[in-house]
Amino acid sequence: MTMKKIGLYLFLMICMLSLLGGVLSADPENSSEDEWILTPTNTNEAQTDNVKSYTAAKVNVHFGGALFTLEGIYVPVSGSEESETGIPQSLHISLESAGSTRLLQALGALANWSGMKDVLCISASGRDVYFSSAASRMKFRKVTGTGSMGYLRKDSGTYIPMRDLLNHLGIVCSDWKAISGSLSECTIIPSIDEISVKEEDGRRMLLIHSSAPVRYTVESADDRHVSLIFNEVVWGVKDEDISAGNAVVTHESSGNACGMRLNVNYPRYWEGRLLSRLTSGNIPIEFVPDFPLSSGYRAETLESVKAVRQGQAVTVNLSASGPVHYFWGYDRGKNELVVEMPMLTSGAPISAQALTGERIRTCSFSSLMSGYGASRLTMSFAGPTAFQFLPPDESNPYTLRIQIMPSTLLAADEEGMGCTSKPEVCGTIVIDPGHGGCDPGACNNSLGLREKDITLDICFQLERFLSGMGWKVILTRRSDRDVSWAYSPDKVELQARADVANINQADAFISVHCNAAYSSSHNGSSIHWYKDIDYALAQSFRGVLGKALELTEKGLFRDNFYVLTHTRMPAVLVETAFISNARDAMKLGDRNFRMTLARSIAKGLDTFMGSRFARKTRRSTVSTSMPSSDEEAMSSSEKR
Ligand SMILES: [Zn+2]
Repeated sequence: MTMKKIGLYLFLMICMLSLLGGVLSADPENSSEDEWILTPTNTNEAQTDNVKSYTAAKVNVHFGGALFTLEGIYVPVSGSEESETGIPQSLHISLESAGSTRLLQALGALANWSGMKDVLCISASGRDVYFSSAASRMKFRKVTGTGSMGYLRKDSGTYIPMRDLLNHLGIVCSDWKAISGSLSECTIIPSIDEISVKEEDGRRMLLIHSSAPVRYTVESADDRHVSLIFNEVVWGVKDEDISAGNAVVTHESSGNACGMRLNVNYPRYWEGRLLSRLTSGNIPIEFVPDFPLSSGYRAETLESVKAVRQGQAVTVNLSASGPVHYFWGYDRGKNELVVEMPMLTSGAPISAQALTGERIRTCSFSSLMSGYGASRLTMSFAGPTAFQFLPPDESNPYTLRIQIMPSTLLAADEEGMGCTSKPEVCGTIVIDPGHGGCDPGACNNSLGLREKDITLDICFQLERFLSGMGWKVILTRRSDRDVSWAYSPDKVELQARADVANINQADAFISVHCNAAYSSSHNGSSIHWYKDIDYALAQSFRGVLGKALELTEKGLFRDNFYVLTHTRMPAVLVETAFISNARDAMKLGDRNFRMTLARSIAKGLDTFMGSRFARKTRRSTVSTSMPSSDEEAMSSSEKR
């Protein structure tokens, strides 16, 4: 078909559509938007040339390290013409030319005509831009914008005003240069235009939204923060529009002209995971609960707060919909008790004012993360006061009870944690990745290996195998951190690990380590136990960490290690191999070996647990999708 014929067909189709238009309802895109009326233009006129005089133009556009050559035209515009520094108002770029098509693709933009072919919609990164032949309009969430230029028609081609298009799409043009009368050059840069917290399929995400795909690198990241470096991006978020839960988002120049460093500090009790290093306009960071017992707890709702007076004592009752884990700290100087409860939110506003009285001078209740997350109760006392957390009341196991009474002495600075009642568990194994945070454990400097990293990786793999087998698994730490706090005394740190097992009433506890010795010739695996009830568990590891792994199996040893003497369930400490021995250390540094090792440890634990406790999969008979046999669980884990 020749161009003329296409033009004719188009013309005929348009005539038919305009006839139909009287019968069909209006374009839903327009009718739903009361304010959004682009004066319906005469369709015929819109489709025929409305450009009488023009100058041909070309623009070299740099974006994301690529060059796009756009075909365009300058048309005379009425009123004041553009300044020299920005994109001229009179410049319209061809919608159909190869360069524009590629650029729209790179911006993640889609162009669609309305059914009547008189309104063009270009959508990208949540923005909808509409062009009629007379004007343009943009909608992005609650933001709207208008432009006075519409599209133009010439030789059956469509030309859109470049300046309005980029403005509406939230893209900034820098260093506009006229190279010659008809050739110009510029660089275009996306903007970060929204930071928000969203809940999607029960997952909590921080989304860093940009107006077009942006490239970035991770400068630094740990379980408390991430710093991202963008080479070309503009900051377009107003402070009041940042919704990041209790995460703290800051930005600063990274040094180069359009570079930026974006810092996200995660909220307390939450850890962030950067999900993708590819971006299509959204950089997602998932928030996962991060406190010692988090895997056993679900989010619960605070139902009521009451104070009960008995003589001189006051008992504060916080009733929740389920078990609540709490952390508390007393500040002697302020005579103030702060109780924080992760994964607890209040359904309705809680008035803590009613609690104040003779003993409680001030009292407030706040959300540490709006909408979900953690809650905080702050109480300051009148005069020397003693307080205690009462054991759970059997009639309501989900009520946190704090008894407050006068005392002759002020309490010392103190802190602690507890829970109102344990979550329902069945066949629970607590896994303790040895060391972590400020304690690296034993190191092999020549191979660059640290015990704390190796144990964490083995334990993650162990967790996958064991949960696949149907056991409930809780890790004492899920990242490079101390279980208690950085630089805490050894006893406090080890007690925190034992506490995770005791508070969860675990059925078995295993602490995973790498051995080390001054003599580099020492090698092999060993199993350590102490209490009588530990022995059967230790025995189930006989023959497990030996030949099949090409390790020297040193056997079972009775040792009064802290985590063995302070746990109340069968517990073992496994020394997997010697990090100080060249051959053993090479193995420990190999991810595949660590997986085989984890599988062997899982088999040992499964032998012990299987004869004594119920698996989750046996109880929930309806669930058929979970792997029920060990082999299935392992093969699915091995695919990783
Ligand atoms: Zn160790």
